[in-house]
Amino acid sequence: MTDLKQLLKDNGVVGAGGAGFPSYCKLAEGADTLLINAVECEPLLYTSYTLLQNRIRDIVIGMRAVMEYAHIERGLIAVKDYRAAKLGYSDGQELAKGVFIKYVPNVYPMGDEINLIYTVTGRVVAPGQLPITQKVIVFNTETMHNIGLVVQYGQPVTKTYLTLGGDVPEAFCVKVPLGMKISEVLETLHVKVPDTHVVIDGGPSMGNIVNPNVDVVKKPTSGLLILPKDIPAVRSKLRTAEENFRMAASVCCQCTRCTDLCPRHLLGYPLEPHKMIRSTLSAAQADPELIKTATMCCGCGICGLLACCQDISPMQVIKEYKGILAKNRIKYVANPADTFEASPEREYRMISAGKWKEVLGVAKYDKFPPTYIEEKLKAKEVQVPMVQHIGAPAIPIVKVGDEVKENDMIAKAAEGLSVPNFAPITGRVTYVDDKTIVIRA
Ligand code: SF4
Ligand code: SF4
Repeated sequence: MTDLKQLLKDNGVVGAGGAGFPSYCKLAEGADTLLINAVECEPLLYTSYTLLQNRIRDIVIGMRAVMEYAHIERGLIAVKDYRAAKLGYSDGQELAKGVFIKYVPNVYPMGDEINLIYTVTGRVVAPGQLPITQKVIVFNTETMHNIGLVVQYGQPVTKTYLTLGGDVPEAFCVKVPLGMKISEVLETLHVKVPDTHVVIDGGPSMGNIVNPNVDVVKKPTSGLLILPKDIPAVRSKLRTAEENFRMAASVCCQCTRCTDLCPRHLLGYPLEPHKMIRSTLSAAQADPELIKTATMCCGCGICGLLACCQDISPMQVIKEYKGILAKNRIKYVANPADTFEASPEREYRMISAGKWKEVLGVAKYDKFPPTYIEEKLKAKEVQVPMVQHIGAPAIPIVKVGDEVKENDMIAKAAEGLSVPNFAPITGRVTYVDDKTIVIRA
């Protein structure tokens, strides 16, 4: 078989969730477990669930290819217990040689990679280190599905699956060409966004508010949610950084509840959101070593939406710090010799998924399961961003006026960490710069 690492790079496979880490970089030797993160702990999202229901064969083929390539004996598909049962899978069921279903509890944020690895293996990945340091390689469900398609058909990544849900009459799980404008996705599915609502790219806890008339669907897009502005999940996203810092500096009573419930702190990480809040009071409190711990935050939002009785959002304050640290390329990286132990309190402090939905104010919008549309949505135009992944932007190789067919390469990988981009639709190139290629059908 052609080198799998090269195949994944050549076909543009990146994490279909999160920041879009190029998948070829994960294929290292030394792992004993391949873990598929099918937990989907964000409320209202059912993309992984739908793929497990309809595309399990491709997922398992992708897993076997990775396991053979990296000499991994055990492959686990981690799914919430109630969802796996609904799909007809039992805990420990073997789907192919060495590939098993693994039930995980229905708690939040079980889909956080570091929490999931601990739950499944009992190992804590040290802050700033990669899962491979604990002999684990993790991919999400759709990424593994894409790997399955590359291995079988040489199919490059030109579309993504996403859940369209929230305050809508009917929720969908659909296949969308990359670069399709969000407004066109909504229009095609006859979904209206009232002035009282916003569109969120991702889940209600960790997703970001987007402008449907400007923003497009990218490789990591796993959900589009239409939600009212006045629910807690959205209110906290609409608050400005200044408001967050003002509240943090004025009303925090230093009760430490945010730290007590922080899932990363409960894994033994030296992340203490109450101290981050204290740091907003004066420069004297803002010890650089303390600020660096911001990079350990997974952005779950528990510290603010659930823990804080003063309506402060430590997560938003930490997000600002993280932005500054990222610009300056500063990251907390633990000494490889350091060990981290989960707190014995952890299992009693995990948040039930039902409770979390209530806290966010989204329980009444949960539509399970969504209507699955297998056929890819038709786009009149796509605006393909050159950056849909961590690393260097892809470099356009087409010019205005070129005719391209679906799956043709339109941008090559740059030097270093990068992947190419492919035409998501057949059509004519109408615009090219170093950030975007526009194709009209
Ligand atoms: S929970 Fe709220 S009030 Fe308590 S320490 Fe944290 S930020 Fe301050
Ligand atoms: S968002 Fe808050 S609770 Fe979640 S990991 Fe970050 S600091 Fe901890």
